[in-house]
Amino acid sequence: MDTMGYYAGIDIGGSHIEGVLIDEKLRIVKAESVGIMGKRNRKVFLEELEGLLEELCGKGVKGIGMGVPGPVKKGKIFWSCNARFLEGTDFGEILRKRSRKVAVDNDVNCMAFGEMCTRKEKNIVAVTLGTGVGGGIVIDGKLHNKRPYAGEVGHMSIDALGVKCTCGARGCWQEYVGVRGVERISRKHLGKTMEPDELYVMAKQGSRKSKAVWEDYGRLMGVGLANLCNVLDPEVIVIGGGISGALEMFEKSMKKEMRSRLNMELPAIVRGKEHAVAFGAACMAMKY
Ligand SMILES: [Zn+2]
Repeated sequence: MDTMGYYAGIDIGGSHIEGVLIDEKLRIVKAESVGIMGKRNRKVFLEELEGLLEELCGKGVKGIGMGVPGPVKKGKIFWSCNARFLEGTDFGEILRKRSRKVAVDNDVNCMAFGEMCTRKEKNIVAVTLGTGVGGGIVIDGKLHNKRPYAGEVGHMSIDALGVKCTCGARGCWQEYVGVRGVERISRKHLGKTMEPDELYVMAKQGSRKSKAVWEDYGRLMGVGLANLCNVLDPEVIVIGGGISGALEMFEKSMKKEMRSRLNMELPAIVRGKEHAVAFGAACMAMKY
């Protein structure tokens, strides 16, 4: 394969590292991933990352982009309340060993950038639902990423006296619609802690209690998204991250909640594509 016309994109997650190679027409030509479950220390993590980079960029690429779970300044991640072991890592330096053209940004900024490159809409909000909840904002065709904390929607409070967040504040949206949020709602309805995947399968099989979990969850999603609509009035909201797989289960109550809080017409709400962060990171390396 002639890799000279290709760009690599990497997605650093809390439990995996994912990478794609795209061509100049923005087609994904290769996708790889490695699990890092239980290996949450920097040394092991960086070894896994080097292995993945070698596999993707071994024969040379035109540029490498990377999405990381937290705000970034000059290629360095300086805060990550869900992956503390990564704080201070200079990913820009790591990537520059393999390519002169590199881009490192917050993971959801990368996703929003990728959406911007492939959609006609110019005002986009991307939200990812995982352990943490992240956001990326495109305003009039421009990614809003010049200030490092812009788009940290997960720490927007939806309850002034609410649940304590990993960031130290109370009522952060992330604690309601991230994985810990789903688990908390599952304890309420099922009396035990269950993961989003299990709850999705059970709801799909008709479990009424699991459906109730997703209904509650949708309401909490709707509260946060309504806030974002009031501030940004996006044309489209793209939802990614692991929990987005259950969108069909919470879409109805989410939209109902949004309608009850908004005077405007709802934006289109769609699921992010596969490899959305890695893809967007590669786009960023190409176009930024
Ligand atoms: Zn918080």
